[in-house]
Amino acid sequence: MSPSAPTRRPSAASRTLAEQLQPIVQVHDAVREQSIARVDVDQARTRIKAGRAGFDAATVLRSAGDLRPAFERTAAAFELTGIASTPRIAAVAKTARDAATLVLAWANAESQPRDGTLRLARSVAAIVGNAVLARASADVLMGFPLSAWKRTQCPCCGASPDLALATDTRRTLVCWRCDTMWRTDHRGCLGCGADGPPTLARVASPYLGYELAICNSCGRYLKERRGSLTHELLVERTLVAGLDEAAQQRGLRA
Ligand SMILES: [Zn+2]
Ligand SMILES: [Zn+2]
Repeated sequence: MSPSAPTRRPSAASRTLAEQLQPIVQVHDAVREQSIARVDVDQARTRIKAGRAGFDAATVLRSAGDLRPAFERTAAAFELTGIASTPRIAAVAKTARDAATLVLAWANAESQPRDGTLRLARSVAAIVGNAVLARASADVLMGFPLSAWKRTQCPCCGASPDLALATDTRRTLVCWRCDTMWRTDHRGCLGCGADGPPTLARVASPYLGYELAICNSCGRYLKERRGSLTHELLVERTLVAGLDEAAQQRGLRA
């Protein structure tokens, strides 16, 4: 996106999607509020100060105990949005006994299941896992500045960013797994550092207000927007999901 591009207002379509997703946003907030995971905040901060990720995502998720209630509530929210039909949600609800496994599969970025019901179950698990980890990260970061963190991996959970928010003077990265946001001096490809054409290509998607930064050298891509978020991350990610499909079809990786 060119530096002169204006910060976008939400389009009517994105507002409609945001409204449709409200039940999921609400259940995500509720799971986050519950703070069901255990994270050693002092230990995490010590690790971050030493340049290491604060916690292990799988360990934090396992500490949350029984994830079935959160999974079932989230599945019900999916039904309310109309994203999935009642019979499909009933099939997904039967997978709730495997909620912990499904959430860990999401956290480990395992390949998507082919089966439709399991794919939907993975989407439900993603909301649960993200809410649990986002809370753990928020606890670690409360009153704890990240200004010394220079790496391109998430300071809290060690995952890669899936979004970047850019202004003329700063670039903020967002962790795909736990929603942590941190500033970076890196302007180009996060994989290899390439920072200009033709190695780093930028494909604008004006309708979404995003561009896909594609590295022709190492094959990584990043979704980047100008300015701050228009919606909650959950809505924003749903809006730009098509960009991931386009990039992955080209053989690129996040
Ligand atoms: Zn993270
Ligand atoms: Zn690269």
